[in-house]
Amino acid sequence: MQEQLTDSFGRRIEYVRLSVTDRCNLRCFYCLPGDFRNFSEPDEWLGFDEIERVIAAFASLGVSKIRLTGGEPLIRRGLPDLAGRLARLPGIADLSLSTNAVLLARQAGALCAAGVRRINVSLDTLRPGRFAAITHGGRLDKVLDGIMAARRAGFAPIKINMLALKGINDDEFEDMVEFCLEHDFTLRFIETMPVGATGRAATRHYLDLQEVKRRLASRFSLIPGAMPGGGPARYMQVAGTRLRIGFITPISRHFCATCNRVRLSADGALHLCLGQDYRYDLRALLRSGADSAQLKAAIVQALVLKPERHEFREKPRQVIRFMSMTGG
Ligand code: SAM
Repeated sequence: MQEQLTDSFGRRIEYVRLSVTDRCNLRCFYCLPGDFRNFSEPDEWLGFDEIERVIAAFASLGVSKIRLTGGEPLIRRGLPDLAGRLARLPGIADLSLSTNAVLLARQAGALCAAGVRRINVSLDTLRPGRFAAITHGGRLDKVLDGIMAARRAGFAPIKINMLALKGINDDEFEDMVEFCLEHDFTLRFIETMPVGATGRAATRHYLDLQEVKRRLASRFSLIPGAMPGGGPARYMQVAGTRLRIGFITPISRHFCATCNRVRLSADGALHLCLGQDYRYDLRALLRSGADSAQLKAAIVQALVLKPERHEFREKPRQVIRFMSMTGG
């Protein structure tokens, strides 16, 4: 019988977010300091063989969904090769990718061929100058080229993730809805979280998505919607169209009771909750020659420490690491 991974609160864990590098080619102000360079070295990252062993252990515990993330995952050399290896593991049914799409135009075809099916692109603005300001010098045209290449390559659905930032991009929500309507993308709005010093500083731009939803409803006819994927977004649909708009509300209406995931950082640390700095070092175990039974036992043991919920509101200073360590 298939083993299952269940935490102390009865939540079944079936989803691993796998960060393949902590490096990023953008410096979104709410994520990383503009001059940040203090990344880990590639020899600290798990190698592909090590990643495959860990994910195989998760798969044998009933995990079926993997999301490749970072940092910026497309920076990791050979990512399509890794994707192919993970897609072939018994039990892995869903392989997806989160990216800023800057490097996607060149890699979209290879990733799709390797078995990545769903893709999320982080995009907070459609204005080139504003994009450069938010990301500390990023080029919007490269992102748009990447997204269009992804569509040609056959990714479906393509989800655009937009952080709702008061005073930064709150005059663009309707434009982004129109953009996603035109190109048949799914749109998700996300609330800013106090992760790292940068995330905490950005909470002055925090916007409660209930307000954003009310505002959009005054312009678009929104009806309840649904979307396969098992994530935390609550969806509305624009009536008479295929457009679904998701609202991801970790702060105003958290969804911890249905949390089904854990995160593995590039250096092999297992993070049980985005809102907590506790980490369980799987790399040391892997490099000490642990077999798959020992790996599985360690994962089960680590899971005992998964908290019932994050405490972003009560203890906003709790998470020191930047979001780029775990990939959101
Ligand atoms: N580079 C990839 C990307 O751009 O999607 C993956 C990593 S990035 C850290 C993942 C997501 O985290 C992005 O959508 C980004 O907007 C989000 N993020 C970063 N810092 C955040 C914060 N303080 N609050 C909420 N979301 C944040």
